[in-house]
Amino acid sequence: MTDLLQLARAAQANAHAPYSGFRVGAAIRLQGGETFAGCNVENASYGATICAERGAIMSAVAALGTVSVVEVVVVSEGNPPWPPCGMCRQVLSEFCVPDCPVHAVNGEGVHLTWRFDQLLPSGFTPEYLIESP
Ligand SMILES: [Zn+2]
Repeated sequence: MTDLLQLARAAQANAHAPYSGFRVGAAIRLQGGETFAGCNVENASYGATICAERGAIMSAVAALGTVSVVEVVVVSEGNPPWPPCGMCRQVLSEFCVPDCPVHAVNGEGVHLTWRFDQLLPSGFTPEYLIESP
């Protein structure tokens, strides 16, 4: 997890957060070992803001196509550290393996960990859209 934490912290430093003042970084590891990072990018419209976790996922998909996420790290200054928001959980559900560990860490070293399926139980997953024979 150390490499993901470093990537997430580096991305957090680049966050564009002039409205909330809350910088967030995220990093993900894929099944093949590749890593990607993202940061929150706020927008004056507020609604066009994208979170760090979704930024990391979008970068991975742009680079590799469909991906399988096996680990997620989110870094914030929240205390307790912030887990992914509901919208990010929904996006992650498209790509995360169910037992994917999701770590939330803050600058004080507080570290919380969940399995992804704990964060979004009974989520709306791609399986609902696959037609049964
Ligand atoms: Zn989010």
